[in-house]
Amino acid sequence: KVKTIAIYGKGGIGKSTTTSNLTAALSTMGLKVMQIGCDPKSDSTTTLRGGGYIPTILDTLREKKNVKANEVIFEGFNGIYCVEAGGPAPGVGCAGRGIITSVELLKQLRVFEELDLDVVVYDVLGDVVCGGFAVPVREGIAEHVFTVSSSDFMAIYAANNLFKGIKKYSDNGGALLGGVIANSINTEYAKEIVDDFVEQTKTRVIEYVPRSVTVTQAELQGKTTIEAFIDSEQAKVYQGLAQKIYEHTESRVPEPLEEKALHAWAFKWADALLAMQTGEVR
Ligand code: ATP
Ligand code: MG
Repeated sequence: KVKTIAIYGKGGIGKSTTTSNLTAALSTMGLKVMQIGCDPKSDSTTTLRGGGYIPTILDTLREKKNVKANEVIFEGFNGIYCVEAGGPAPGVGCAGRGIITSVELLKQLRVFEELDLDVVVYDVLGDVVCGGFAVPVREGIAEHVFTVSSSDFMAIYAANNLFKGIKKYSDNGGALLGGVIANSINTEYAKEIVDDFVEQTKTRVIEYVPRSVTVTQAELQGKTTIEAFIDSEQAKVYQGLAQKIYEHTESRVPEPLEEKALHAWAFKWADALLAMQTGEVR
């Protein structure tokens, strides 16, 4: 049975980088993997394709009627199936529309069955501002949701909003939360902040990913870290993440913090960091 995962997170937090390294690592485990970029920017799969862009499903559907599988699915690193949902013309319509249309088309083409996939990963721009972006959660298109978050408050704020969405749809067959992928965790306090947030919201961190220049170097080459620097420490982190996600089975309903509680939590950390700094000065 195919395992379906959706990766959410605040804009620019590292979703596409993490997702591409995850699918690259899964593929090196000998698994058949598809990555579906659900961002109107359609840049999810670029590092799986040497830095190149692929035509999006929405664009292709606009141009012609009977679209075939090989017109929307492209081969990436190590045989990964790459798909970009695409978006509406700028300023027109809901940007989440691409996800709905893409899932419908891929189902219609029966690709999930015919390609005999092991894992499908959706890379979703996830501030859940628009109904369309909530679709993988609401319709349970993905079985397990993971969110990428740093220790920055705005990233945690976005994660908390996602938790609200997951909780809301959880009674009606919606996707559940697998956990948090903590990205750009290079200091002890960054780890502590994320650890505290997941404890408060009754979830967990599935992996801590440091911010690393190896990722930057690989991206400049148009590659994932897995492809460019397989022997690096950072590649080992992504391989660990892939292993854990592959073995993951039990997702849960998170307990998002109410607006007031979230701000109280933030103030608590503001004080704690201040105390740490004054401690250092002395
Ligand atoms: P968007 O919301 O625009 O789709 P995103 O969440 O997909 O953004 P990415 O494009 O993956 O974010 O990452 C943004 C930038 O941060 C990229 O240049 C990426 O290389 C860098 N980056 C992400 N994670 C790391 C990391 N662990 N170490 C170093 N650089 C990173
Ligand atoms: Mg992205």
